[in-house]
Amino acid sequence: MDILQTLYNEIIGFFGIGGIIKMVQSGDYSALSTLGGIQMVMGALIPFLLLFEILRAFFYKRFKIEDYKIPFLVFVLNRFVSNFISIAAVTFCIGLLEKWAVFTTTFTWYWLIYGYIIWEFSHFVYHALGHKVRILWCLHSTHHAPQQMNLSVNFAHFFLEAPYADVVRTSICILLGVNPALLFFIMFIDGFWGSFIHIGENILKDARLGFLNHILLTPSHHRVHHAKNPLYMDTNFCNLLNIWDHVFGTYQNERMDIKIEYGITREMNPNSLWDVYFGEFVCLGKDIAAAPGLKNKLLYIVMPPGWSHSGDHKTAKITRTAFIEGERKDKDK
Ligand SMILES: [Zn+2]
Ligand SMILES: [Zn+2]
Repeated sequence: MDILQTLYNEIIGFFGIGGIIKMVQSGDYSALSTLGGIQMVMGALIPFLLLFEILRAFFYKRFKIEDYKIPFLVFVLNRFVSNFISIAAVTFCIGLLEKWAVFTTTFTWYWLIYGYIIWEFSHFVYHALGHKVRILWCLHSTHHAPQQMNLSVNFAHFFLEAPYADVVRTSICILLGVNPALLFFIMFIDGFWGSFIHIGENILKDARLGFLNHILLTPSHHRVHHAKNPLYMDTNFCNLLNIWDHVFGTYQNERMDIKIEYGITREMNPNSLWDVYFGEFVCLGKDIAAAPGLKNKLLYIVMPPGWSHSGDHKTAKITRTAFIEGERKDKDK
């Protein structure tokens, strides 16, 4: 019976519907008029959308177990470890850094706008570093390994990535005056939107969301981010507002003449949990072992993926620039 109870708790926890069940049982729906109540209902939306996505794929006979297997295995692996470290890391950073904040903000609409812009900046910093620093790419690449897009990709993360991301983002936000209540509210919106932008082609074929594509980071932008096509590599690092991608020149629209190819560029076995989780560490280890001298060995750890001690670099930036140059030359002909 204990096993059944644990399983029940896990399912309720996965769908985030514990609070909703309690509310229905008590018959008291007043919580829906509070912020906490709305968060509770929204939090349960993504797992249900995922279920809907899978059912639709079944209905259209497009369901392939390998499209979902690895993200779910990674989810199970991370389930107990990552969340706890992450919560502890956020609390620790707030306690440590709050007194050093440049000024303090309150929970008002204008500070919310300020806080969100700062949050997006901190997300940009964490995310761009995850792509540009080889050791951090080892952590982030698990999220880019799936070779298709669907909501289960949300669960594909190396277990240390969330704590690392939260330390970077929380530290920047707290130091720049975003108060903890505001920060948690922003984190909630960000978590919801960050999950939604992984919605797959099975539910939403054209993910540009009409005019919203001009003002928000849409699922279409995030599909571009997950693509390994030369033009799309290392672009669209933001989450909800893509201001910082515009500022730092990493903004890229989805082009309808380029078919998105999901995944990472190295040879890998997308169905192997080992390869998805540790493959990049193995590659880095091999490069370090083969590099001459201590300086080169250390450089492999901090330089972008594709950097080579021989000078024959194959970084995302070089590949993307070559593609853009090639297209320009073709046009000039
Ligand atoms: Zn990424
Ligand atoms: Zn993603």
